[in-house]
Amino acid sequence: MKTCKKCLLDENYPQITFNDKDVCSLCSSNKSFKPIGENALIDIFQAAKNKNKEYDALVPLSGGKDSTYILHLAVNVYKLNVLAMTYDNGLFSQLALDNIDRAIKLTKVKHIFCKPDFAIQKKVYQNMLKYTGDICGACDIGTKANVLKVATDYSIPIILYGTSPLENDSFLPDSIQDITRFKYIMKIANNLTKKQINDFLIFPNLNMFLHSFYKLTGKFSKEVSPLFYLDNPTDKQMGEIIKRELGWQDETNREYSKHLDCIAEPLTNYIRNKIYGYERRKCQYSNMIRRDEITREHANRLFEADKIDEKPMNYSEVLKHLGITDNDVEKAISYKPLLYENHTSKMNKLYGYLMKKINNNR
Ligand SMILES: [Zn+2]
Repeated sequence: MKTCKKCLLDENYPQITFNDKDVCSLCSSNKSFKPIGENALIDIFQAAKNKNKEYDALVPLSGGKDSTYILHLAVNVYKLNVLAMTYDNGLFSQLALDNIDRAIKLTKVKHIFCKPDFAIQKKVYQNMLKYTGDICGACDIGTKANVLKVATDYSIPIILYGTSPLENDSFLPDSIQDITRFKYIMKIANNLTKKQINDFLIFPNLNMFLHSFYKLTGKFSKEVSPLFYLDNPTDKQMGEIIKRELGWQDETNREYSKHLDCIAEPLTNYIRNKIYGYERRKCQYSNMIRRDEITREHANRLFEADKIDEKPMNYSEVLKHLGITDNDVEKAISYKPLLYENHTSKMNKLYGYLMKKINNNR
């Protein structure tokens, strides 16, 4: 097994190659982060303000580092009139809920908490985990749908996501957010009615073309990820800023935390690593090395401390919470990647193909 001399990625990472100095293709092509630029972001904000709606922007807030930082930018730095919202994915940590509470009180923005039917949500997670080993896709689908619904209902011009360039390479080869694939898996699990599934999805017939089309025509709000526009502070500095400004609190037992908002994050990393041979943390630390935020030795130390190979500390608690067994997890771990990749719509396949072409030509 080859491992990159510069970052932590190894041959398990999809489509990775190594040069004669054992440096991986991600490091050697120097996929380092180049921000789009603050002016472009200011233009987007100004256009949103010019629409004179009740709110300029919707900020989905999870209580984690990135979304809290976005709230800080939107309210304190760019003076936008913000509506904050949180979709209860059923997996929030108490720390995240407290962070949301403090941030809302300090910024004095209006906040909406979307609560789904928890019994259905739980079944969705169980089905996804039992058939694919993944629950993040279902959570993303649920979150996105609720965010779109709130933004549409309140006619808010832009949605500000906390998507971070640091997570750029953490994605799985499986299209876990594909609604057609999601519906196929729910169909084989066969324990929810069509109405229950459609209620969970809110926009059950949304394919990727329609989504783009609706955004272009203004039926859906524009989606913006400010962290891709700006020369951002380091991950650590970002944490310090929101601690000072929004009363944010971090996990005290880890030097670098990511996704402290989700109690199931360590479990999903554990399973991902078993199935794919890599998971989020390895990708994030590798990104931080490429951005000169930490050295390779430092990253290695952090990664070792995460003990990705071992069942996480809250393993039994999370399994109980999700209503799944140790046996279900073991079975899921035996699945091969790309199990349901062909169970998508022709439209989504074509969209994926076109997007790949466009990105390659950039
Ligand atoms: Zn590398």
